[in-house]
Amino acid sequence: MPEDLPGDPPGDLPGRRGVSDARRVVVKIGSSSLTTAAGGLDADRVDALVDVLVKQDGRQIVLVSSGAIAAGLAPLGLPRRPSDLARQQAAASVGQGLLLARYTASFARYGRRVGQVLLTSDDTSRRSHYRNAYRTLEQLFTMGVVPVVNENDTVATDEIRFGDNDRLAALVAHLVRADLLVLLSDVDALYDGDPARPGARPIAEVAVPADLDGVDLGRAGRAGVGTGGMATKVEAAAIATGAGIPVVLAAASQVADALSGAPTGTYFAPTGRRSAGRLLWLAHASAPRGSVTLDAGAVRAVTEGGGSLLPAGITAVEGEFTAGEPIELRDETGRAVARGLVNFDAREIPQLIGRSTRELARELGPAYEREVVHRDDLVLLRA
Ligand code: GLU
Repeated sequence: MPEDLPGDPPGDLPGRRGVSDARRVVVKIGSSSLTTAAGGLDADRVDALVDVLVKQDGRQIVLVSSGAIAAGLAPLGLPRRPSDLARQQAAASVGQGLLLARYTASFARYGRRVGQVLLTSDDTSRRSHYRNAYRTLEQLFTMGVVPVVNENDTVATDEIRFGDNDRLAALVAHLVRADLLVLLSDVDALYDGDPARPGARPIAEVAVPADLDGVDLGRAGRAGVGTGGMATKVEAAAIATGAGIPVVLAAASQVADALSGAPTGTYFAPTGRRSAGRLLWLAHASAPRGSVTLDAGAVRAVTEGGGSLLPAGITAVEGEFTAGEPIELRDETGRAVARGLVNFDAREIPQLIGRSTRELARELGPAYEREVVHRDDLVLLRA
């Protein structure tokens, strides 16, 4: 375990650095921690969570809450979570209002207001959306309102399919420059194996990513009603810690301890530096839509010179993508060196390859004077 550094606040336990003094905190709770055995929203569990959140004096809390689908099942006469996406989205649409109504009533017991914020991971990357979301959240803090975030399930389905909001919570933590991310679920910690098996041991701290070597994430715990297994939680933790934000993964019933820095659940130490970049998610996006290959000069310009990717530096293009989507930038050996949001459709690129922007503008019009990937829309991958 790393030792406490001089200057750390006395409340922080060794190995839980940054928890007790975190001022801005993103708390994520999964569907399975908010529902009754029958599957509907459990008002008592919502109240129990809120009882703790309102007592975090001096802190700004963003609550990222799933549970919209679960809340929508009964009103729609659905006996269980449907397997098709369209009905899941319909249930989320009906349930989101009910979920917010529940939080509104629960926080109102303490005279606190909540504000609904529905986001997609795209919103954390597109410049104008990112700026607007950030501004809204800041304004909510200023007004003393607790933002309650969920994925905008009618237009995006990433978290329904893959994560039960784990990844979204990490991106929100990054967006608001949080000091701490707390991931709550019905699993009390990360285990070194299937927690249902005797002998599986909880992992108290992940100090460096190598601490996870040999942990079978597929079996290390899976929540029931939601969709987030351990793998997505660990992935979310990696996104946050990579941006310098410590993460505590704990049982929802242990939220008070998780927030105070008491030894509960699993603590993930920050591994990277805090940064204000908005494209962090890109480095972790599971599936870029395609790739372009760069010549050696372009690789240098992008990785060392902080430059944009221009058509002149491209030697090949692969995949089907449209402008605005994430793609990979590869060197001539095929190694991915960066990811970025591309400004052209894949089918437009072959005619641009190897040519100067000036020449292209002259021939094809001023719209073709743009970079293939602007440096502001680009994130370097660690070698
Ligand atoms: N946004 C969804 C919800 O609130 C995601 C969680 C899930 O997949 O259950 O229900």
